[in-house]
Parts: sequence; structure tokens; C-alpha cells
Amino acid sequence: MPELPEVETVARDLQRWVAGATITDATVRWERTIRHPQPPERFAAEIAGATIRRVSRRAKTVLLHLDDGRVMTVALRMTGALLVTPADAAPDPYVRVVFELADGRQLRYRDVRKFGRIGLWPGGGLRSVGGGRGARSRKVAEAGRRYRIGEVFSGHGPEPLQRGFTAARLAERLRGRSAKLKSLLLDQSFIAGVGNIYADEALWRARLHPLRTADTLDARDVRRLHRAVRQVLREGIANRGASFSDYVGADGEPGENAERLAVYRRTDQPCYRCGRPIRRIVVGQRSTHYCPHCQPEPVASEPA
Ligand SMILES: [Zn+2]
Repeated sequence: MPELPEVETVARDLQRWVAGATITDATVRWERTIRHPQPPERFAAEIAGATIRRVSRRAKTVLLHLDDGRVMTVALRMTGALLVTPADAAPDPYVRVVFELADGRQLRYRDVRKFGRIGLWPGGGLRSVGGGRGARSRKVAEAGRRYRIGEVFSGHGPEPLQRGFTAARLAERLRGRSAKLKSLLLDQSFIAGVGNIYADEALWRARLHPLRTADTLDARDVRRLHRAVRQVLREGIANRGASFSDYVGADGEPGENAERLAVYRRTDQPCYRCGRPIRRIVVGQRSTHYCPHCQPEPVASEPA
């Protein structure tokens, strides 16, 4: 499943290739791909004529900012991909939505397993999201009201690569939490964009066991974790993401980060730090990879 580095790679590719392009027409081949507005014919009618001003990312979602302020969101989920092709490129049975561009190219949304979702939203409110301190400010949208783009992400935690995401801010968010580190890193309301691959990689780099609970970390542990999360995400972006299953960049090429991972899917292979075998366990139904030597098991706490 594409995580922050993979989605960032897609967004950067698209920024180079489709910023300034005008969408003349859209064809929806799988109706459930369209999340908003409904019905999908309305989505197609509303996107026609729009010009893409720039492309960015929030959490694990690609944002196509349109000239008129509206934003198209593309959540790739498991197997979604956004591909730019010539109009005469070979037909592809897994393409769910086709956007015709005025210059003759196509922007194709391809999705084998069909979990991805595309929405078109009025702009506004995005900047403030995830910027709040302390308690989560999850706004509840009233029924029937049109969501603004910011509200689509109101349940998401801070962006780990933003300047405002400091070690102090992470410490503040960890304080008093009894959740296991692995589960917390996967929780999108705690921190946005981290998934199974980068959670395992960050914990290995920080030498923290995935089952440690947040409230057992001291200040040095938190600083190591903060640095590790940002490093693994930055390196993932530099290597254009990790491809397992169907992830590809907007050029259709797989990323190169999979070969560079330290623990993810390296069960029984030697740890790059100590040479001992990497172990796999299941935490919250997610497979979890770690080095039992470098990431010592948490000491059982005294019964209360
Ligand atoms: Zn090790």
C-alpha cells in the first residue's frame, strides 16, 4: 500500500507533467471510485474544463489543485496509480477513470483492487488542518452540507516532514499514551502518512521495540524516534518509494526503495546492524518486522 513517500513521488511526478494541463473530459468506468460529488456523472461534468494549477500531497492522498480553487483528491489505497499516457496508449482493463487532457494526453486512474477513491471538493481550510496543538480537533460535518477540502482531512494528525513537526511536538503527542509504538505510528490521527513499511523501518532505526508503549519512552528515545521517522520517509522519497504489489510512480516505473529497507519483509535475514536474524510478529493484525537484539523487548511493568 502506498505510504507517504510513494504518494509524494506520484504527486511530484504529476506536478512536472500535468501542472497547467486542462481536463476536457472524464470517463468513470467504475462508479464506486468516485467518492464525491455524487452521482459520478456529476463528478465528470464538474471536472470537465478544469485546469490543474499544481499537485501536492496530504497524508496518503494526492491533491490536484485546480485553477478555480477546487481540489481533486485521489486516495490510492491498496493498488491505485495515476499514470500519464499518450491518448493512443494501449487500453487497460484496470483503468477506472480516464481524464482527457486538452494537449491530447490522458491522465489515467488505474486500480486493480478498486479500493481507491477520488473526490472533488471546494477549497479552503487545508492549511489549518493538523496544525492544532494537543487534543485533536475533529470537526463533525453536518449531514447534507458540502465538505470543504480541509474537512476531508480533519481527522488526520500532523505531517511528519513539516517543519512544525518537532521532537517536542512528538513528545507532547506521545505523553500519557499507553498504545504500542507500532499501532500509534499506523494511527493516521496520531501522525499522517506512515504505514506498515515505514513504521517498521523507523522503529528499527530508532532501536525501539514495536511493542513498547508510548509512555515508556524517555526524552532521548523520543528524539531518536522523531529523527528516524523523518529519515526513513525522506530516504523513501529520494528512492521514489518502495514497490511491493502494484505501486508505481506516475511514469509507470516501480520505486527503488524496497531493496534498501532494513527490516520490512526481511524475516530471518541478518540485521544490517548486528547480523542477527530479523524476526516477524503480528501487532494489531499487521505483520511487523524487527531485530530482537537491536530493539530490546519491553520490560513487563509491575502489576498495578
Ligand atoms: Zn540488530
